[in-house]
Amino acid sequence: MDVSEYVKDLPNVSLEERRGFFAVENPATTETIAYVRDQGRDDAEKVVAKAVEQQADWAATAPRARADILMRTRELMLRDADELAALMSAENGKSQADASAEVVYAAEFFRWYGEESIRPGGDFGVAPAGGTRTLVTSRPVGVAALVTPWNFPAAMATRKIAPALAAGCAALLKPAHETPLTALAVTRLLREAGLPDGLVAPVVGEDAGAIVSTWMEDRRVRKISFTGSTGVGRLLLHQAADRIMNSSMELGGAAPFIVTASANIDDAVDGAMIAKFRNAGQACTAANCIFVHRSKVDEFVQKFGARVEDLRVGYAVDGADVGPLITAAAREKVAGRVEKALSEGARIAHQGQTPDLPGHFHAPTVLLDVTMESELVWTETFGPVAPIVVFDSVDDLLRDLAGLEYGLSAYVYAETGEGLRLAEKLDCGMVGVNRGIISDPAAPFGGTKQSGIGREGARLGLEEFLEPKYFSIAW
Ligand code: NAP
Repeated sequence: MDVSEYVKDLPNVSLEERRGFFAVENPATTETIAYVRDQGRDDAEKVVAKAVEQQADWAATAPRARADILMRTRELMLRDADELAALMSAENGKSQADASAEVVYAAEFFRWYGEESIRPGGDFGVAPAGGTRTLVTSRPVGVAALVTPWNFPAAMATRKIAPALAAGCAALLKPAHETPLTALAVTRLLREAGLPDGLVAPVVGEDAGAIVSTWMEDRRVRKISFTGSTGVGRLLLHQAADRIMNSSMELGGAAPFIVTASANIDDAVDGAMIAKFRNAGQACTAANCIFVHRSKVDEFVQKFGARVEDLRVGYAVDGADVGPLITAAAREKVAGRVEKALSEGARIAHQGQTPDLPGHFHAPTVLLDVTMESELVWTETFGPVAPIVVFDSVDDLLRDLAGLEYGLSAYVYAETGEGLRLAEKLDCGMVGVNRGIISDPAAPFGGTKQSGIGREGARLGLEEFLEPKYFSIAW
């Protein structure tokens, strides 16, 4: 796929040429880095027929041949890793280290699902009453609509595309309008790897509702796989209900990060730095609020605070550790949350610097004297702000945290036995036990409660794109 069909390179774009295109901004500099074709309902509709036609052939293609294309795509992503990372930093603002790590993580989905797609599932056995046999197999769901957010522009796309293709599905891809360039680049690499045209069809545009509802209303589209906010996920589930559409939802989180009296504080500080500041705190698995046992809080705050003050905030190309937030509105939202907490009695214990750049930067901030009533505990902050709540009893803390509406992830730093017992009690899909990062293509990623339905990654991620089918056989 040639992305010039979608993208107009700067700097030679006239006002006239910009009509029908939207600007993609670098959030660190606020400069426009590209104009992208603003597609809508008609474009969304056009790609469906081709996807349907191609999907039938793709489903009939030998699993090994499908796997070869996925494996080749991973190699191409790694070949172009620097270019992809630079593109991601430019449109999303993330640091070079975060962007490079994301390319490897994103590419790994193609390897994992390439390997998985050649392992046949299914079952055959004697029915309980005897006399008949039961044969269980599965078939691809069909054409799937994939909707992805801006915070991990490569990985959120490949975490869906790879299992969809491995299962024999076709994919209609709607990336976030803030970061369409990475998704287009990944689609181009899939084509270079030999994927037939139209099997993964990106549609980029500013009117997400028009594009996605076109697919939700089309009976040829059999699945919606969404990653993004709980609010939009809820809206799509309402739309899916009209057609009883197969739905997978990866939604928001508000991960508690718990440091108990038995924790190794140096390890907990290392983990908190990753869990809180990776991607400037804009991760669904980001540690939202840090709960520290009273006996360890002084040591934790002193060591953590020193590391936070040392963070280099700025432009990825200048080697920053932490980039900007995605938009001015996102920055204002985070700043507003901090203001509110301060007005409720919290105080800033440590704070990093912001650079002299026009982008949407928020200083890494450690807040003390935050109470359990604070909004920072209960809602996703999505920024580089670390509120610290002191606790005395783990049992009381667990009782309080049962009230969280989100159940995506949590982190526990404790002696291993205590950590595992605590992890078992937390009502969420994923727990890092003495680890500040949990994403792994080989593990089932997803949440409970308002954090979603279904899993991505692992064998379960493939099954989201398969439907079981069984034959009852007279014997
Ligand atoms: P978002 O606003 O929900 O957007 C996600 C995607 O949905 C984008 O492609 C967006 O398109 C599209 N969209 C927006 N409104 C829509 C509508 N009415 N109908 C159909 N599609 C629509 O979320 P975000 O701000 O990009 O991402 C941040 C959220 O995602 C956070 O809550 C985070 O926790 C969550 N997240 C969850 C996971 C997970 O695996 N659980 C992973 C990453 C992020 P436009 O951008 O073009 O509006």
